[in-house]
Amino acid sequence: MPERDAVMRAMTNDGAFRIVAARTTDTARGVIAAQKLSGDAADDMADLVTAAVLYRETMAPSLRVQCIVRFENGAGQMVADSHPDGWSRGLLQAPPGEARPDIRTTAATLEMMRTLPNSDLHRGIVEVPDSGNLSEAFMRYMQLSEQIVSMISLGSSLAGEQPAAGGYLVQLLPEATEAEAAMQTMTKRLEDFVEIRERLRASDGSPTRLIEQIFEGMPFTWLHQSDIRFGCQCSQLRVMTTLSLLDRSEIQDLVDEGEPVSIGCDYCGASYTVEIAHLQGLLSAS
Ligand SMILES: [Zn+2]
Repeated sequence: MPERDAVMRAMTNDGAFRIVAARTTDTARGVIAAQKLSGDAADDMADLVTAAVLYRETMAPSLRVQCIVRFENGAGQMVADSHPDGWSRGLLQAPPGEARPDIRTTAATLEMMRTLPNSDLHRGIVEVPDSGNLSEAFMRYMQLSEQIVSMISLGSSLAGEQPAAGGYLVQLLPEATEAEAAMQTMTKRLEDFVEIRERLRASDGSPTRLIEQIFEGMPFTWLHQSDIRFGCQCSQLRVMTTLSLLDRSEIQDLVDEGEPVSIGCDYCGASYTVEIAHLQGLLSAS
């Protein structure tokens, strides 16, 4: 059976660690095709999408999250969303006429946001290290903003014959006994899992295989798994809702122009056409 994008979870039987691992190869390929990215920019976007998936699955599986890399001096931003239905999407924005920002050469911050059950937002911002390493930035965020000790690696290698994207997040659970010793053992073990791109390529990104390798020799239990995919929440209805928020005079201007309005989604590239009759409908409804 070929691998497909999924999130797997497991917990060590001593209650010390939980792991969430994801294969995001096809999801990331959907995102980078929609954003027309290649090379390092494609892999960076894939890493951010993986981060969004791992973040949601760890902190808020049933709520939506968003991760934003904001480049300094208004050089643009990179956004990834992950939704409880399993879809994720991404967006790379640069000021008009300027080159796409590169996380390796441009200073940036990482902002992580998740919806809370009461609809409020939890958000935190950390600096991305000079190396541009998003895994490190994500770990720093988990420590500082969520008070969670974790070890994270994101890995994407989408060009070439064996494209693969994915990652894992190992979390030290609060109820762990002898937490310090457990942490030392796990840190030592994970030295072989800092750079995971080769492993992901060799296993077609299998999150099951990754967890088996990381927890090798440790009794552990599989927890539930879930599917993920590339997707978007745009729709004709959302387009109409957005248009309905315009001032009456602006809608009237669109009607007067006499042409159907064409609106594209920056995330997924879908395009929507709103007929004049529908615009007139908005005028009579308001
Ligand atoms: Zn869309």
